[in-house]
Amino acid sequence: MDIQDVKTAELVKKYNFKFTKSLGQNFLVDQSVPRDIVDGADVGPEDLVIEIGPGVGTLTAQLLKIAKRVVAIELDDTLIPILTEELGEYPNFSLIHNDALKVNFDEVIGDEQSVKLVANLPYYVTTPIIVKLLKEKHKFKSLTIMIQKEVAERMNAEPGNKDYGALTLLVQYYCNTKIVRKVPPACFIPRPKVDSIVIRLDKLDEPKVKVDNEKLFFDIIRSSFNMRRKTLWNGVKSIGPAKEKLEAAFEKAGVDSKRRGETLSIQEFATLSNCINEIL
Ligand code: SAM
Repeated sequence: MDIQDVKTAELVKKYNFKFTKSLGQNFLVDQSVPRDIVDGADVGPEDLVIEIGPGVGTLTAQLLKIAKRVVAIELDDTLIPILTEELGEYPNFSLIHNDALKVNFDEVIGDEQSVKLVANLPYYVTTPIIVKLLKEKHKFKSLTIMIQKEVAERMNAEPGNKDYGALTLLVQYYCNTKIVRKVPPACFIPRPKVDSIVIRLDKLDEPKVKVDNEKLFFDIIRSSFNMRRKTLWNGVKSIGPAKEKLEAAFEKAGVDSKRRGETLSIQEFATLSNCINEIL
């Protein structure tokens, strides 16, 4: 059975669908965007694709044409009968009615070897979803997501850049990042107030830097960026060790404690964290 393109505006009308702003519902109407997302994600016939927030299935239909299986996770009750009616007949489609933040992704993935996450994410919940997906260390090969432009720029930033921060370091610890394309508000109904970017996060086999204590590494990063205009010392001293010991750890790491967090590379954060870990 050939999979038909989903005509978003027609379906919205047919089912008299009412958008819920608080669920981040901006649906794609420009068909070039889902095609570019699928191309950018490099989806192939061996892939299990997990999609978060299928809406009326615009991107889902493009994924179903190529992927071995598509599992879509949707929270909105009113979209479940629409998706079931429109896509339920395709044998490679399944639907989970749940909040993506509550889903056990290991169960969804099972024994599948080639797993990709593809989503036009609800923007209000982008960061918690990405933090969950990366920190839980599921075996995704890649995450290709459409998100608010500013958040994509933070994920893709380099040290010294104004966008560089805790989210940059979290994403770049686990992944290589690549911008796929920009998407203007006119590609959606209703139109969002912000520009969007499709970004691909390719999971690394091993984290980018060697870290002995991941919790400490991320605690140091968080405290360094909590106080953005303060020195590293002011942020990191709250971690706890005695002043002399902490000074010695900075010395050993070769990092000047008067620097600001945004100037440190991920390797420098790793070295500093490993040296502080030794004195705890
Ligand atoms: N994929 C569709 C498209 O591109 O047209 C819709 C994308 S829309 C930006 C986000 C979708 O995520 C909506 O369908 C919304 O109901 C759903 N959603 C919002 N919060 C969610 C959550 N916590 N878990 C799963 N889906 C959610």
